[in-house]
Amino acid sequence: MTDFKGLGLIEPILRAVEKEGYTTPSPIQAKSIPALLEGRDVLGVAQTGTGKTAAFVLPMIQRMHESNVLPSRKTPRALILAPTRELAIQIGESVRVYARHLNIKCTVVFGGAPIHRQAKALGDGVQVLVATPGRLMDLMNQDKVRLHQVDTFVLDEADRMLDMGFINDVRKIAAELPKKRHVVLFSATMPPAISKLAESLMDNPVRVEVAPQATTAERISQTLLHVAKAKKRSLLAYVLKDEAIKRVLIFTRTKHGADRVTRQLEQDGVRAGAIHGNKSQNIRQRTLQDFKSGKIRALVATDIAARGIDVDGVTHVINYELPNEADNYVHRIGRTARGGDSGKAIAFCDPEERDYLRNIQKTIRQDIEVTSDHPYHAEAVSLPDLPSPKQGGGGGGRGRNGGGGRPQGKKSPGKRFGDKGHGGHGHGGGGNHGAKTQCSKKSGAKKRSAPSKGGPNRAGGHTPMKSSRRGGNAI
Ligand code: AMP
Repeated sequence: MTDFKGLGLIEPILRAVEKEGYTTPSPIQAKSIPALLEGRDVLGVAQTGTGKTAAFVLPMIQRMHESNVLPSRKTPRALILAPTRELAIQIGESVRVYARHLNIKCTVVFGGAPIHRQAKALGDGVQVLVATPGRLMDLMNQDKVRLHQVDTFVLDEADRMLDMGFINDVRKIAAELPKKRHVVLFSATMPPAISKLAESLMDNPVRVEVAPQATTAERISQTLLHVAKAKKRSLLAYVLKDEAIKRVLIFTRTKHGADRVTRQLEQDGVRAGAIHGNKSQNIRQRTLQDFKSGKIRALVATDIAARGIDVDGVTHVINYELPNEADNYVHRIGRTARGGDSGKAIAFCDPEERDYLRNIQKTIRQDIEVTSDHPYHAEAVSLPDLPSPKQGGGGGGRGRNGGGGRPQGKKSPGKRFGDKGHGGHGHGGGGNHGAKTQCSKKSGAKKRSAPSKGGPNRAGGHTPMKSSRRGGNAI
């Protein structure tokens, strides 16, 4: 397999990549980087966890460096659009990390934060702009940013943009770009509206596709614990006695539920924090930082707040409440096993959640292995009337691991992108003192979010998803 050097990357970037502990390019990187360095447009079907950020950032900063582009007032040369503030921040942090040996100035803008500070950052000069569409439109309308110099336009998580109602903003933004520009579009799924958008924006793109969800699921050992609703708190406290659970993301369906579980954890002596749509951006960022740094062991989140969260070293994901959208189960468990690590996902299921479970198992096309070896096991709940979709007529409950399953505590085989060492750049975990690259973060957000689409296809492809229901849950 080619290494990063073989992809044509220059030495300062190779050093930055090496510092992150990446040895082998991920498949999406191996396919995209050479094409982007050649100046081709790229249409990528990939989701988070595949290394797609580096796939577009590395060639982008290399081209920028090689053409001696300097920061200029209000006029970014590269524009990256992301659907959520969290993702925008993380991309900004990635730019800073990957460009640590280059002189590249990056600014991140998104809604909810004071616009004047963002306007000032843009006015001070910028090369790379990472933005959510709504705030970018506001800044354009106030003439704080002009897009006529953009030569690289990246649309990340395009299908989520569609879900979240940003597609018209995206079209308007694209209309402001110069005719001659280089476009990269990444999307986890390719619904017709996104294919059409891609067609209108791109010129004979190189198409790259990876099937991450199936492989993510392979690296994650998944277990299911049946429990009465009233016993979930006790079960959580019991499960968390396991010291192997070092950094755990716990999902609830509602904001209220997230707050309640966080309070209970703290009462039970577990350092925890919650992030959801009701928390201010500052608090969300601080809580996320505490989670990354290990100050808190458990982060309790709702689906929307967790969108795009990329924290290295999440050892476990606990579905305290099963998601009512089966696709969200896949997104949730994908928060562990990042960048080639293995991880564990534990789901609590009470009797009222059996329908959700059924849908989830149908979506992932496997039965989740049931663990009954715990004091709160609700035998009556794991009833035979749960018609879970069987694969190949195997014995109940053992799923695709061929009856044996992967023993708890054993690592799954192999790392996806090669050995990453300890945890990649962790998106902002450590300071990059002395780095010339700056990435200002402007925080805050408008509340615009929706469940994403995209589900796993065990055959290796992507299943175009039904349109998402906006459940009544206040998340
Ligand atoms: P992304 O898909 O861009 O969200 O990246 C997912 C995770 O993979 C991030 O934590 C990256 O630091 C990590 N990563 C990206 N490229 C590589 C690589 N070639 N080897 C190991 N880890 C990587």
